[in-house]
Amino acid sequence: MASAINADATTREARMNLKPFLIGVDVGGTNIRMGIVTPDGGIVKRIQYPTDASRGGLAMMESLVSRLQDFIKGEAGGIQPEIRIGIGIAGPVDMRRGILIVPPNLPDLHGFPLKAFLQERILYPIAIENDANAFTLGEGWKGAARGSLDYCGITLGTGVGGGIVVAGKILHGAGGMGGEVGHIVLNPEGPLCGCGGKGCLEVYASGNGIRGMARKAIEKGEGKGILKRSGGDLRKVTSEEVFKAAREGDETALHVFKEMGGYLGLGLVNLVNLFNPEKIVIGGKVSRAWDYFIGSAIEVVDQRAMKGQRERVEIVQGECGDDAGILGAAYTALKLE
Ligand SMILES: [Zn+2]
Repeated sequence: MASAINADATTREARMNLKPFLIGVDVGGTNIRMGIVTPDGGIVKRIQYPTDASRGGLAMMESLVSRLQDFIKGEAGGIQPEIRIGIGIAGPVDMRRGILIVPPNLPDLHGFPLKAFLQERILYPIAIENDANAFTLGEGWKGAARGSLDYCGITLGTGVGGGIVVAGKILHGAGGMGGEVGHIVLNPEGPLCGCGGKGCLEVYASGNGIRGMARKAIEKGEGKGILKRSGGDLRKVTSEEVFKAAREGDETALHVFKEMGGYLGLGLVNLVNLFNPEKIVIGGKVSRAWDYFIGSAIEVVDQRAMKGQRERVEIVQGECGDDAGILGAAYTALKLE
């Protein structure tokens, strides 16, 4: 947590003088986080509340607007400094037009013009970015990839997200949807992926992937320890339980993470060869199990990546934790033209 951020100690008066006054918003599947970010990347105030998609995506967006309005009013008061807002949201997102394309947690918002919707209700400039791109930009601004111009980010969560920075700019592609690292195809006959393809990195290296591999092992009669932790109910096996079992030295759990690391390694090889990055930063909830998967990932990179590119790249853990998304979203707002 390098950039943290002794934050709430800053007075409201001092915050009002921030120019520009950046608000970074990280719209996650579980929580929505907002932070006031200084132009040099300090977070001076943050709030968090649970994502409530139970009444549908539109109601959730309406509540996001009122939270944002309250946050702005409460923190910027009657004085109107130069406010800019950056929003990171699970994609794919057409960043240029600010349109959500099949948002995984909000299926009813397919094709939703998020930017126009927000801009009609909030008069300050708003930038929309994919959440994994925001993570990547946050780590590049204040975290593990500080100072790098060519680097990649990977988030290991329920799914696998990623971002690619080339010559200091995030790669958006023709429709603003590029950089979907989680959907690098590793096995053409592999398990079905949420994207409609098969054998993508995401089906192996995500929380869901870990859960799937553990359940398969249990069905074969292994992993008694994991099953016991999950109350003997196969349906209750989660990646979190597999992680806890690994920490206790459970062999099946350790094996699952090793296997997951092997697949992650293949994904890394593709990034290393394609983009010749200086760094690859890995974050997200599942990256807490770093010690259990990174060894086998690095082994695959050492064996298979092209030599020149391999020598140049460092594979590192993210440093910003939960703040990376807020920071990256704010950074996107800072760079708004
Ligand atoms: Zn996929």
